[in-house]
Amino acid sequence: MGKNVTIVGAGLVGSLLSIYLAKKGYKISVYERRADMRKIAMSAGRSINLALSDRGWRGLQGVGIADDIKKIAIPMYGRFIHNKDGSHAYQPYGKDNQAIYSVSRAEINMKLMDLAEQQENVKIHFEKRCTSINKKDKIASFEDNNSQQNENQNYDLLFGSDGAFSASRLNMQLSNDRFEYNQHYIDCGYKELIIPPGKNGEFLLEKNALHIWPRGSFMMIALPNPDGNFTCTLFMPFKGEKSFEKLTTEKEVKDFFDAEFASAVPLMPTLIHDFFTNPTSSLVTVKCFPWTFDNSIALIGDAAHAIVPFYGQGMNCGFEDCVVLNELIEKNNENWVEILKEYEALRKPDGDAIADLAIGNFIEMRDKTADPKFLLQKKIEAKFSEKYPDKWIPLYSMVTYSPHIRYSKALSDGNKQQKIMDEIMALPEIEKNWESETIENKILEMIS
Ligand SMILES: Cc1cc2nc3c(=O)[nH]c(=O)nc-3n(C[C@H](O)[C@H](O)[C@H](O)COP(=O)(O)OP(=O)(O)OC[C@H]3O[C@@H](n4cnc5c(N)ncnc54)[C@H](O)[C@@H]3O)c2cc1C
Repeated sequence: MGKNVTIVGAGLVGSLLSIYLAKKGYKISVYERRADMRKIAMSAGRSINLALSDRGWRGLQGVGIADDIKKIAIPMYGRFIHNKDGSHAYQPYGKDNQAIYSVSRAEINMKLMDLAEQQENVKIHFEKRCTSINKKDKIASFEDNNSQQNENQNYDLLFGSDGAFSASRLNMQLSNDRFEYNQHYIDCGYKELIIPPGKNGEFLLEKNALHIWPRGSFMMIALPNPDGNFTCTLFMPFKGEKSFEKLTTEKEVKDFFDAEFASAVPLMPTLIHDFFTNPTSSLVTVKCFPWTFDNSIALIGDAAHAIVPFYGQGMNCGFEDCVVLNELIEKNNENWVEILKEYEALRKPDGDAIADLAIGNFIEMRDKTADPKFLLQKKIEAKFSEKYPDKWIPLYSMVTYSPHIRYSKALSDGNKQQKIMDEIMALPEIEKNWESETIENKILEMIS
């Protein structure tokens, strides 16, 4: 097979993938629908921060660029919970200073593009929108945003890394019989808001934490940025008693925030402006199959598996796709028939698993992080896991800090653990006895 690779989409995954393949000697043409974001101002309300964790770091380390990204990342060592009554609590994410890292999506994307372009065999073409893929003749067509002219590109291999609403995927869906496709919107949307820095540029909340205001059916989170501000995201149902549809006037927004997020309101001087200026966006899960076609096309990243953001894993999962693909290239000595077959067989169950875990964590973050029974369960698990680390790795740690455990294994082990904990938490007087040997032995008995 020849070495001409076309990548559709210079987002996070497409940019990283181009570096991996360039290092293997392929000639890469990346086509990106948008203008070069390094040359234009970001639009308001699109400043999403992402949590980068060990799977993502592994992807960056694989091509030697983790140190470059660390310079624009802020470690967050735990959740900082802001209760409605003004009290707060801190829950460390793991042990030994384990952290997840806050990065601006635009910053990391721009850095990845810079690093991709440093490879002499990568060229990114901006403002070129993929319009069709001719599998038979291996030609992809792109329309130039300005001239509206179409240009064709021959490829030996094509990767669709064009995100949740992928045109490459749609092309495959339309041209392949029995293509499985499922998309699901949750009833909740999100809106970005901001907590700016203090007068002297200082952080107004604890810098090294992910802040959560859990309120049952809705929640707000805030992640730190290097310039001292926090990007806040309000996740809330579109409809219902407490929902976006009920917040249509300045007074309604003000009253709602004063009642629900009183501790944050004094830190949000532009709240009303931001609320009405920034878009309300929806959240989708996409599952599809197959991910590869005619031994020459593969979907990767969100194009293959868009997930809701509540486990902070969408990008991490996409970076892991690149790691797995790279390992398979080495293992199969560039035999792309085998590589693509194994790629989809390995990654599809993991994509499905993290999609399900992400939905589960939505419920955990908004409903349970303030629930004393849930917090006790986490304490029991942490204590047991500390004593028997080879018998119990908490689910969050498996997903976030254990890049060698597959998502599908994390999901099935997590389900087993939950069954055990359901029994433990139902025991009488568990609040008093949770540190006892009886409880420890009971868990040991149930594990084996
Ligand atoms: C609110 C929110 C919070 C999130 N938080 C986290 C988090 O904390 N941690 C985490 O790991 N993930 C998080 N994610 C998920 C993460 O943003 C995505 O998983 C990640 O961006 C996927 O990367 P990608 O390259 O596959 O797709 P994208 O980043 O969407 O890139 C796709 C690219 O393809 C381009 N494109 C689209 N169509 C075409 C076309 N027809 N032709 C050419 N180019 C095209 C787009 O312009 C874009 O540049 C979050 C997502 C959201 C919405």
